[in-house]
Parts: sequence; structure tokens; C-alpha cells
Amino acid sequence: MAELVFFSGTMDCGKSTLALQMDHNHAARGRVGLIFTKMDRAGANVLSSRLGLSTGALEVSDDLDFWESIVERATAGQRIDYLICDEAQFYTGEQVEQLARAVDEMEIDVFAFGITADFRTELFPGSKRLIELADRVEVLQVEALCWCGRKATTNARVLDGSMVVEGEQVVVGDTKPGTTGLVEYEVLCRRHYMRRMTSHAARAAALSPEVLPFDLEVCPLPSLPITQAD
Ligand SMILES: [Zn+2]
Repeated sequence: MAELVFFSGTMDCGKSTLALQMDHNHAARGRVGLIFTKMDRAGANVLSSRLGLSTGALEVSDDLDFWESIVERATAGQRIDYLICDEAQFYTGEQVEQLARAVDEMEIDVFAFGITADFRTELFPGSKRLIELADRVEVLQVEALCWCGRKATTNARVLDGSMVVEGEQVVVGDTKPGTTGLVEYEVLCRRHYMRRMTSHAARAAALSPEVLPFDLEVCPLPSLPITQAD
């Protein structure tokens, strides 16, 4: 019985690494799959993991119809046993429904990987629909860690060095400074997300003599070198 499985987590929790491993495991058993991704940090048509592995992938555009695309390939004689769908948070709700249909009507396993919530802690549309429709939702066990060492459950957006909680939902990180500024992301525990305390802000607070950060006793700073490179 084919399944729609959603592997979810924060950034840095190893989703893309698991996606690559999943593809390897199924291919090693003689199964044939297609790999999809959307706006991977390494560019279009590639699925990359932070550990340095990568593979070619089909880029998902907003107007891609998964169902039509799969039916077309199957009609042309292509065998498809499973789909690896990375960065699934960026897919539309409709595309997730097309994936569910492929599971139900074509017996194709769909393994979707994605971040659940955006930098405002609100669900991405693709992730929302996956949580609603998936046969299983697996929360990845490789936990990303906040700078304080706690489990990181949020993805903070840092714009020109300062954490922001308003703005467009999708802005790909590590972009070059331009009109919109330099956008970076940092995983944080909820406590530090709520306090807007990124690792940079925490270091600044710890180095400033007039500020005694009230939560450092319960949430100690990691040992850091005295001199920081900017
Ligand atoms: Zn923390």
C-alpha cells in the first residue's frame, strides 16, 4: 500500500540528507523514483544537503501539476515507484492534493520533506496541507539546536543582523545584500525566539557590562572566544 509521508522539522535538522538517503535506499532495492525540490539553496534543479551531498532534481514551479506530469510519464512507459519531494513547504496546497492522488490512484509512494513553520512561527501552505492529508507525519529525530543548547523548534529570520518577525513568507536566505538587505536564518528554541535573542544578540548582551541578561542562569551561554570576527 503506497503512502504519503511527511518528514518535518526545522532548518538544519537533516531533512535533505534524509531525502537523499531515502532515495538511495529505495534505488538500491531496484525501485525507480523521481526527485523534486523547490528553491534549494544550491540553485535550481538540484537537491543539496548541508553535509555536502547533492543530486540532480526536478524543479517544482507553482504551475507544475504533479498529477498530470506523472500520468504523462507513466503513459510514455516510464516506471515510477516513488517520489522524493524536498522543500515541500514551498509547494501549493493544490500540489499536495495532486501528490495524494498519485498515492491513492497510482500506488506511488510519496516521501515529502519540509520545514513546518515560517519565521513568524506560522505554517507554510504546503506543510499545512501535508499535515492535513499525510498518512504519516514524522518529526525528524536529528534535532537542530538553539545556540543555548535547547532543541530548536523555530526558524528566525535575521535581516541585516537583526531578527524580524514581519515580512514576506518566502525569502530564500543567504542572499546577497541588495535592496532588501542581507537575509539569514537561525534556528532558535521557543524561549529565545520569543525574546528575539539570536546568537549574535546573546553575545552582544553577554559582552555588555551594563546588561545582566536575566535568563542566562537558566540558559547559560556557550563558551565563546573573547574576540569575535564581526
Ligand atoms: Zn535557546
